[in-house]
Amino acid sequence: MDLGVDLRTELVKAVAATIDRHADELTTLDQAIGDGDHGINMKRGFDAVLADVANLSAKPWPDFLKGVGTMLVMKVGGASGPLYGTLFMALGKDLPTEPGRDDLVRAFRGAIVAVQARGKSERGQKTMLDVLIPVAEALEAGRSEIGAITLAAHAAADATIPMKAVRGRASFLGERSIGHMDPGARSSALMIEAIGKVLEKA
Ligand code: ADP
Ligand code: MG
Repeated sequence: MDLGVDLRTELVKAVAATIDRHADELTTLDQAIGDGDHGINMKRGFDAVLADVANLSAKPWPDFLKGVGTMLVMKVGGASGPLYGTLFMALGKDLPTEPGRDDLVRAFRGAIVAVQARGKSERGQKTMLDVLIPVAEALEAGRSEIGAITLAAHAAADATIPMKAVRGRASFLGERSIGHMDPGARSSALMIEAIGKVLEKA
């Protein structure tokens, strides 16, 4: 019996559930500084992953993550689809079949670098990276308490509110993008919280 199958299934269910619960909120955030589709995009993507969960979870970690990433690229659309797709595909490419904490931390950083290359983006531009990078830093600093990592992720999403967008659709608004949370930062924090809760129990 491969315990990984159950864990992978739980992770997919938890992330899909949180995206489903917050789809309207993500869309509202994107209405303020984008085109109002982030919740719809993410829900379409994770509903598709959930529909294929038995097949995906049966694969070992690298192939599972690559499969999730490929599905997100195909189904999410928008700017976030290729970027989240890249994140998961790169994680799958970097992780060994039986990853430990160090492997995960290293692969997470590598996946973020891949997202940055794809999005030509960096920290401070009011995107998902403003959550992903601080979380990677917390992990690299040796933090492992899930509650603290989750708090850091949500604080990082909050910290996008005063930022001016320099990448993605929100950048078209210039100064008017200030005062709203970035939808991709919010979806990243939600996913990290959901993944953390599952890993805490594992
Ligand atoms: P679109 O902007 O095409 O409508 P979504 O609404 O699904 O796509 O996703 C928007 C989110 O994607 C933004 O909130 C931001 O976090 C993220 N994003 C957009 N462009 C970039 C980029 N170049 N680098 C990193 N993240 C980006
Ligand atoms: Mg959008």
